Order: sequence, then C-alpha cells, then structure tokens
Amino acid sequence: MEQTLAIIKPDGVSAGYIGEIIKRIENEGFKIIAMKMEHLDDRKAEGFYYVHKQKPFFSSLLEYMTSGSIVIMVLQGQNMVEKWRKLMGTTNPDDADKGTIRGDMGTDIERNVVHGSDSKDNAVYEINYFFKGNEIF
Ligand code: UDP
Ligand code: MG
Repeated sequence: MEQTLAIIKPDGVSAGYIGEIIKRIENEGFKIIAMKMEHLDDRKAEGFYYVHKQKPFFSSLLEYMTSGSIVIMVLQGQNMVEKWRKLMGTTNPDDADKGTIRGDMGTDIERNVVHGSDSKDNAVYEINYFFKGNEIF
C-alpha cells in the first residue's frame, strides 16, 4: 500500500469539478483517507512548490494556486503515486489522453485542474505539508 497527495486546484473547484473528480477516484477503487479544503496564501503555496522556485512560470503558478480554494486529499492504494498520475494525465492538457482528468477538464499547461505527487518521497513530504497524523484515516 502506498499513499499520494492529490489536489483539486482552484480552476477545478470553481468550474464545479469536485464531484466528478472524486467520482473518478472512487470508480478506480482508490481510497480517500484524508480530505480538506483550503485557500492557500503566497507563503503556503511557495513552500509547497519550492522545487519550482527558479522556474519562469513560478510567480504565475503562485497567483493561480492562491486565486481560490482547493480540495486536498490523501489517496491510498497499490502503486498509488503512479496510478493517480495516470488518472490525472500529462501536465499539459493538450497532450493528455481523453479519459484523463487533465485531458477532459484542463485548460492549459498551467490551469490543469489537479496535482499529484511525482514520487513516493515527495508524497510523504506533501502529505505532511498539509495533514497532521490525526487527520488521516
Ligand atoms: N506549470 C506551468 N507551466 C509549465 C509547467 C508547469 O504553469 O510550463 C504549472 C502547472 O500547473 C503544473 C505545476 O506548474 O501542474 C507544477 O509543474 P510540474 O512540472 O511539477 O507538473 P505536474 O507534476 O503538476 O504534472
Ligand atoms: Mg510536479
């Protein structure tokens, strides 16, 4: 069993995709073991995306991620990191397969609806960034 961090980003929440995304997660048989809503401030968004600090898209990414509320979840299952990234689709929705969340609901390479940890180690960091032990079930 493995855990990963999943986020429904501000564009997904404001477009009304929360229910559809959770339905797809549950249809795959993935278990949601933690869930909350937050509206990130600059500092919290910066700390989350610190690996991208030097990237040209960083300031725009912060603006986007702080533009509205988000839904944050911990998913659990076998090969969970890889399976959630597969269900999300590629970073750029233009390249993502139909049937993936980004392929079906994404707008562009920035506004791509969802986040998923990219490794087991990063999943541990990201889960601890948002959840205390007693918030995970
Ligand atoms: N992003 C962007 N421009 C880019 C690449 C990424 O705005 O050229 C945004 C996008 O929202 C992406 C996030 O930054 O989801 C993190 O980028 P990463 O490369 O880690 O993609 P992900 O792991 O989310 O697929
Ligand atoms: Mg990433």
